[in-house]
Amino acid sequence: MSEIPTDGLPADFWPRVEHAPQRLLMLDYDGTLAPFVPDRDRAFPYPGIRELLSELLVLQRTRLVIVTGRAVADMPPLLQLEPLPEIWGCHGWERRLAGGDIRRVELPVSVEGCLQRAWSRAVKAGIEDHLERKPASLAIHWRGLDEARKARLEDVASREWASLAADNDLQLHPFDGGLELRCPGRTKGDAVRELRAESPPGTLAVYLGDDLTDEDAFAALGEGDVGILVREQPRASRASCRLRPPDQLLEFLRTWLRVCRHGG
Ligand SMILES: [Mg+2]
Repeated sequence: MSEIPTDGLPADFWPRVEHAPQRLLMLDYDGTLAPFVPDRDRAFPYPGIRELLSELLVLQRTRLVIVTGRAVADMPPLLQLEPLPEIWGCHGWERRLAGGDIRRVELPVSVEGCLQRAWSRAVKAGIEDHLERKPASLAIHWRGLDEARKARLEDVASREWASLAADNDLQLHPFDGGLELRCPGRTKGDAVRELRAESPPGTLAVYLGDDLTDEDAFAALGEGDVGILVREQPRASRASCRLRPPDQLLEFLRTWLRVCRHGG
């Protein structure tokens, strides 16, 4: 059930992290590690995040994973980390393992055709500059545009895609800054479930995210795991607590490093 998350972390959070035999730290990207900017290709992490992530990557008993709605291919130029952490992209449809192997859940052929038709309709309507084709979806972005242009894009996309979605069992998902036509069946919750299933018993799983698509991830956490909403303003969420970006997020990652280095 969604409620307003409490401000800040529960009192027993850091002792639990310190004593956990294994930790799974899952981080959303846009709006969590990186600010929203008009040009989404330039949504680089907040200052200081990159350095903290590289240090977190070498911790012995922390598995660090990025879980994003973006395509995996978007991430290396934004993160600029060597090595890269494990990345789940496209809301659970794609996965790049820490070693570099990429795995994709296969898209039904009918969905592939439908996404092509949705693309053609959007191009015909003259809105192709705002489109993004991802392996399992088609997105239209209007972040940073004025209200009139945003309203036009929203109107065209909803009109052109609503019938395709309805006739082909696809889903139209609003997100912060756009609309996405998605193949149903996978969400960030699947990423969380699979990662948890791979983790040894006793693992403490922690997920940080800001957007509506992160609610699936929060809902997939197990008993004792911790969902953290990263957001300036409170809102109802399945996360239990909230941190404000970027200061409280940076402090969170710094403390994670300190506690885990201390606890081994
Ligand atoms: Mg986000």
